[in-house]
Amino acid sequence: MQKAFAYLFLIFIILVALNYFLGQAQEVYNSSTITFNPALSSRGLSSIDFSTFKKGGTGWGYITQGYGKTPYSYLYKSGWHNGIDISAQYSASIRSASDGVVIATGNQDEYCYHRGFGKYIAIKDSSNSLILWYAHLGIISVSPGDIIKKEMPIGTVGATGFETGTHLHFSIFSTAGFSMQNKNGCGPDPVGKDLNPIQYLGTTY
Ligand SMILES: [Zn+2]
Repeated sequence: MQKAFAYLFLIFIILVALNYFLGQAQEVYNSSTITFNPALSSRGLSSIDFSTFKKGGTGWGYITQGYGKTPYSYLYKSGWHNGIDISAQYSASIRSASDGVVIATGNQDEYCYHRGFGKYIAIKDSSNSLILWYAHLGIISVSPGDIIKKEMPIGTVGATGFETGTHLHFSIFSTAGFSMQNKNGCGPDPVGKDLNPIQYLGTTY
């Protein structure tokens, strides 16, 4: 009888712990804003403020896919993931990582439904000669030619283009040699040298 009670107690403890950890995970997923934190910037761009996503976290919990060759990058024609994926709840506000000017916006779903970047924004960073690329958006709040300030809301997280969960795809390209070209049947696509965003965002994890 005592043994049965012990087992029940153990199961109770496990359930409490499970509930706690799932609650934590939920908290990570439900981050309502993707903020780039200027205080941590080392190369003119903001860093992602991971503290707003996860208590005491190191960042890995909500970068759902890293840059370059990844376990999922075989899904892309190039075999290469040209940015990072940041998990966030649907309609979370996206705030600009840089000062700059909007050079393009669009919706690839009009050309290749749920196969490309979906709704995207391309911003030319004013101080770094970089193109910052935000994709899979729900709402685009800016237009080509708009002057953008760091941390300004530019749109919301959505589920457009190719994706398995709501997230922001964020890429950085060198301005030199960058262009928008029709190459994958998805309308204008970013073409140029992609850079590892983590190195430019100055994150330390
Ligand atoms: Zn991605």
